[in-house]
Amino acid sequence: MEHIYDTIIIGGGPAGLSAGLYAARSKMDTLIIERAAFGGQVATTNEIDNYPGSIENCTGATLSVRMKEQAAEFGALFVSEEVVEVELEGDIKVVKCMRETYKAKTIIITTGAYPRLGGFKNEVELRGKGISYCATCDADFYEGLDIAVLGGGDSAISEAIYLTKFGETVTVIHRRDELRAAKSLQEKAFNNPKIKFIWDTVVEEAKGENGLEGLVLKNIKTGKVSDLKTDGCFVFVGYLPVSELYKGKITMTSRGDIITDEEMKTNIPGVFVAGDIREKLLRQVITAAADGAIAATAAEHYIENKFS
Ligand code: NAP
Repeated sequence: MEHIYDTIIIGGGPAGLSAGLYAARSKMDTLIIERAAFGGQVATTNEIDNYPGSIENCTGATLSVRMKEQAAEFGALFVSEEVVEVELEGDIKVVKCMRETYKAKTIIITTGAYPRLGGFKNEVELRGKGISYCATCDADFYEGLDIAVLGGGDSAISEAIYLTKFGETVTVIHRRDELRAAKSLQEKAFNNPKIKFIWDTVVEEAKGENGLEGLVLKNIKTGKVSDLKTDGCFVFVGYLPVSELYKGKITMTSRGDIITDEEMKTNIPGVFVAGDIREKLLRQVITAAADGAIAATAAEHYIENKFS
């Protein structure tokens, strides 16, 4: 007889792993599906300093491994698969993956977000050849070299600070004259002698054919165009939700953020959403983990009411 899980969690970042922990701990028959590495974006974050308790040498990778182990200890099951189609409307939900099809009474979608492109000429062509979206993955390549960082949010500034351990110089290019990042990060960056700032400026083009040689910059206040010689450019200009699969099925904003109520319920009964894919004010590990816990609890209540 085919197996029907109590819940299938799609996505194995902090929201999914926290949902998995709470669901499995409530004795729900729980499957977590992840297409890449468990941990999601946080697994590639060097230092986590604002998740309560994560003091001293708590890397994103360590936190992710611990979260996964903890969910597994309570009985959550894991598969590495890519979900290609979902049927969400019926009482039993169907999740079709590349290799297998899985069924469950509830679905919790926690697929997070992916980095937005900077949108300048030659960016895609030089991706992986000097243009990067992940400092933890690629910082090593720029030991002793000149690095540019694009963006002014938490990601750009925290990663710029991290990149100073590798680069000779780190130049942050921001389109305004004020950072969006948390004040504590700003302070660290302003006090770091390796970090320089270029304000009111956007990148128009990446120069180079087989590798990045420099950037063409434009000051948006003066219109002045200039060249910046750099060996690497890390782009951190925000993230977009990984929600393509659910377009036309679940209510979402024009950006693709899925709309939920405070119990993480979507417009479809039995389908819940948690973490960065959801429309929300604050996207952090702590809010992803909290969303996951709430979604699992709401899914448990849904099953109790619907199936018993
Ligand atoms: P974000 O907060 O949306 O910031 C994106 C930055 O990129 C902004 O400074 C924005 O400029 C700039 N930008 C956007 N589009 C641009 C473009 N086309 N060209 C040039 N610049 C552009 O994104 P994020 O920093 O990746 O953070 C995402 C979420 O994760 C946030 O909620 C953040 O708090 C969280 N996060 C937290 C931490 C932490 O707590 N340590 C670390 C990483 C991420 P403007 O400022 O002018 O809009």
